[in-house]
Amino acid sequence: MSPQTSARTMAAIGAPMHRGALVLFSGGQDSTTCLAHALARYPRVETLGFDYGQRHRVELAQREVVLSELRARFPAWAARLGDDHVIDMAVLGRISETALTRDMQFELAQSGLPNAFVPGRNLVFLTFAGALAYRRGLDVIVTGVCETDYSGYPDCRDDTMKAMQLALSLGMDRRFLVETPLMWIDKAATWQLAHDLGQQADASGGGEALVRLIVEHTHTCYLGDREHRRDWGHGCGQCPACELRAQGWARWRAAAV
Ligand code: ZN
Repeated sequence: MSPQTSARTMAAIGAPMHRGALVLFSGGQDSTTCLAHALARYPRVETLGFDYGQRHRVELAQREVVLSELRARFPAWAARLGDDHVIDMAVLGRISETALTRDMQFELAQSGLPNAFVPGRNLVFLTFAGALAYRRGLDVIVTGVCETDYSGYPDCRDDTMKAMQLALSLGMDRRFLVETPLMWIDKAATWQLAHDLGQQADASGGGEALVRLIVEHTHTCYLGDREHRRDWGHGCGQCPACELRAQGWARWRAAAV
C-alpha cells in the first residue's frame, strides 16, 4: 500500500487527519519505531532530540545515522521526513548533578531509580516539544514512552501523557494529540511493530530492512558501547537497557520461528 493510499484509507475509516507530527527521537530502538509509525501515518514528520549532556555522545551521533539510513532505504518515507531539531537541555544535567543530597541519593537507590533521575523530565521534554510543534505547524507529538516494561518513571505513564495532552492543548490554545504507540506493548511486540511498519512501507523485504536498520544503527546501551555487536544490535549486554532490548529480541525471534 502506498503512503498516499494508506492515508486515504485511514481517512475513509475515520482516522483524524492531522497536519503533521513531531517525533521525540533519541536514536534508540523505541523512538525509531515511533518515527516509522509517524512516517506511515502523517503527511509531514519532523524529529526532535534533546542534548542534556548525555554521558555518551554516541546517542546523538546515531540519531543522524538512523535518519539518513531511513531516507536511503525508504524513499516514500524520505518524502515525508522533514527537519530534525536538537534542543540544548544542559540545564537538566545540572539538576541531576547538583540537587542530590545524600539523603536523596539513598532514597533513589532504595526506589530502584537511577541517581541521574530528573523528576518530571518527560514533562519538560513534552512542553518544549509542544512549543516547537506549535511553531512548526505540527499538531501531533509522538513519544515512545511505555508502561509495559515499566521502569519506574511516573512521567512515562499513560495518565501523565493524557494530562500533558490536555495541558498543552489548553495552555497553547491549539488541539494537540500526544500519541504513544508503544504504551501497552512489550519489547518483543516493539520489534514486531517495526517489522510490520517496514513491510507496509515496502512489501519487498521492507520488514526485514527496517528491523536490520534498527539492529545496526539505533543505540540503546546506557554505557555507550558500540564495540560489541550482538544479534539485537550494539551494546554492553549487561546494563538494564541492553537487557530489555536483548530479552525482547529473544522473545520475538522465538515467537517468529
Ligand atoms: Zn548496555
